[in-house]
Amino acid sequence: MRAGDNKAVTAYIALGANLGDATQTVRNAIYAINDLPETLVTKQSSLYKTAAMESLPGAPKSPDYINAVIEIKCLQPAYLLLEQLQKIEQKAGRERPYLNAPRTLDLDILLYGDEVIQTETLTVPHPRMWQRAFVLVPLAEIAPQLVSVARLEGVRGQGIEKL
Ligand code: ADP
Ligand code: MG
Repeated sequence: MRAGDNKAVTAYIALGANLGDATQTVRNAIYAINDLPETLVTKQSSLYKTAAMESLPGAPKSPDYINAVIEIKCLQPAYLLLEQLQKIEQKAGRERPYLNAPRTLDLDILLYGDEVIQTETLTVPHPRMWQRAFVLVPLAEIAPQLVSVARLEGVRGQGIEKL
């Protein structure tokens, strides 16, 4: 597809990785997303480093995360995009033994045009995006019109470092 295709939906995807070579994993994932059918990566935030969220009490402390947000232009429906993102996650070798366990790669659809989606497998806008500095800070870098100053203020205490 062409970037200027006027039927294409503008969507935002958050990428996170914290096992192995997380920086390389995120970079590879961006290439893989750009290679998806009917999908083009049109903007890409810097890479950021954030501390892992609390896992199960007593669980081993996770390494820091590498995070980024990308903008894509997409001609396929959100549920198909999610399926393909999950295949990319699986190829990166992800396992989820427990909640917030470290993972090789996490790909979340933040926004899909202005669609509001609520199915068993997909909720868009992503329900927790406004609480997370590792989403809002990179999103504000590439799409400042989507993130108000008040939203950014709301996550100011969360440690995040631009790489
Ligand atoms: P999280 O991203 O919340 O840490 P997971 O990546 O393990 O957790 O996602 C669990 C499930 O969340 C996925 O199987 C997927 O079906 C569902 N899901 C719901 N909404 C979304 C979304 N907007 N983007 C990605 N996955 C989503
Ligand atoms: Mg996810």
